[in-house]
Amino acid sequence: MNLILLGAPGAGKGTQAEVISEALNIPQISTGNILREAVKNGTEYGLKAKEAMDSGALVSDDIVIGILKDRIAADDCKKGFILDGFPRTVPQAEALDAMGVTIDKVIEISVPDETIKQRVSGRRVCSGCGATYHVEFKPSKVEGKCDKCGGETIIRKDDQPETVLERLDVYHKQTAPLKDYYSKQGKLETVIGQEEVSETSKLTLKAVGA
Ligand code: ADP
Ligand code: ZN
Repeated sequence: MNLILLGAPGAGKGTQAEVISEALNIPQISTGNILREAVKNGTEYGLKAKEAMDSGALVSDDIVIGILKDRIAADDCKKGFILDGFPRTVPQAEALDAMGVTIDKVIEISVPDETIKQRVSGRRVCSGCGATYHVEFKPSKVEGKCDKCGGETIIRKDDQPETVLERLDVYHKQTAPLKDYYSKQGKLETVIGQEEVSETSKLTLKAVGA
């Protein structure tokens, strides 16, 4: 099964992608994590991506499309995958269609902007493996340390309040049109992501039939 998770920054797509990945045993592909890794390693496209990411803007379509294409060509994607953070623009969705990739379902995690603003301030991410946490809603077992790899959990640079407003704006202008794009293809399912994480996870699993 090939799935897409759609949602505003901080809506919880990453968390839900992890849940589905474990339930269906298919890889979670987070373009945000891949880009952060590239920035950390100082690769050529990492350097290009950094400025856009730090300011809350999107990285250019050609860079992310290239990354995605390479990633889904890997062996572990043969049985399916969950895209977390891709596509984020209509041209990215069109590129996916042009690659001949069949998408089975698009799950939109819907959360009002006000809730997003509150949530993002408590978000932490593992500097080792990219797993996400929240100080209040999804704390790691040991404060500051990742449950999965023991890495340090940190605040992302683009989770500063002003940058979050910019990212929300970008989401509404550039990414939200994808709801229409996939609803016309009869693939969109909306999950209300406002309650507790465990509640949202139940709804997500139901939406993918797991
Ligand atoms: P969130 O979903 O919380 O906004 P992500 O980790 O998915 O965060 O993405 C962080 C940043 O990485 C984005 O703000 C953007 O700059 C960049 N990025 C990730 N995925 C894409 C994409 N598909 N297209 C363009 N930029 C992307
Ligand atoms: Zn980790």
